[in-house]
Amino acid sequence: MYGGFRKIWALVLIMAATVSVIFPYQGKTVHAAEPIVVVIDPGHGGENLGTDYLPIPEKVYTMQVALYMKQELEKYKNVVVYLTHTQDVDMDLTQRAEFAESVNADFVFSLHFNMSISHGLYGSEVWVPSTGTLYSQGYSAGNEFLMQFEQVMGLFNRGIKTRIGSKGTDYYGIIKQCALRNIPAIIVEHCHVDHINDVANIQSQNKLQEFGICDATAVARYFGLTKNEEGGADYSEYAPLAVPVPEARVCNDTTAPLYLEAKLLDYNSTSRYATVALSAFDGESPLQYYAFSTDNGLTWSMLQPWNKGQNEMTVTVNIGYGKKDSLLFKVMNLYDIATNSNLLELN
Ligand SMILES: [Zn+2]
Repeated sequence: MYGGFRKIWALVLIMAATVSVIFPYQGKTVHAAEPIVVVIDPGHGGENLGTDYLPIPEKVYTMQVALYMKQELEKYKNVVVYLTHTQDVDMDLTQRAEFAESVNADFVFSLHFNMSISHGLYGSEVWVPSTGTLYSQGYSAGNEFLMQFEQVMGLFNRGIKTRIGSKGTDYYGIIKQCALRNIPAIIVEHCHVDHINDVANIQSQNKLQEFGICDATAVARYFGLTKNEEGGADYSEYAPLAVPVPEARVCNDTTAPLYLEAKLLDYNSTSRYATVALSAFDGESPLQYYAFSTDNGLTWSMLQPWNKGQNEMTVTVNIGYGKKDSLLFKVMNLYDIATNSNLLELN
């Protein structure tokens, strides 16, 4: 449905392999003489709690991580760091963008924590502007955040995404308001507060500080910053992912994966293990998770990571005990839209 998206996605994949040679653009808005101006936006505040699935609401976590991020980022040369707010106050998204404009921001990083309605999703994701240079800058910077979370903290990488609202423009207010002012802004969803895989990452100050350091490191890598201290981190030679400027708006995938085919390779009725070959396809966004059901889709296993970048994978699952004689799979794409497989009979 979104040919534009498919084309851009293919380009991005190609770019990952060939980067700076063909496209010297590195997403930087650097002027050697002037310091980089970074605006950190702690999501929510005041009456706006954000996700309140846990006893401590999201706005508390976003502020703590923002302060850790600022502290770490200020260890680098040639950068000025602001927070959109430092008190627990209500601030609408236009005010946040106006603040960024007033300080001449080179980039706005809006910090958030996530939850899902199903409570089944886990991992980190980044939302980026859908058009032009802002898209390229957002994608390149977002990639640095997700690499940090994945490599340093072991979080599942849920990818970089756009979301288009009913008016055909960017859905998220902070991205939209900043785009109107030609400031790149991304929403960083660090992890899911309602999933057992992720929740330990917000339950200690050490972990929140780790998030703040990951955030600052991502920004330092993106802008090629160098630490003040002698022998400290130096990213001046580092080239972040070069993302070509898209010709058209990059739309989110709104349709399910085209198909999921399951083929039973082996089933041991004593050990209750089944080995199944899965084959799936989605031309618009990558496949991300799979799960299985032994009650024809009434309940599902915990989501498992799909074989990244592949259309096939072989899985071995334990179906447990009780009267279970069938096996159903589902696969989900980057936007968490699922397609079910054919039903496998186990007898
Ligand atoms: Zn939020």
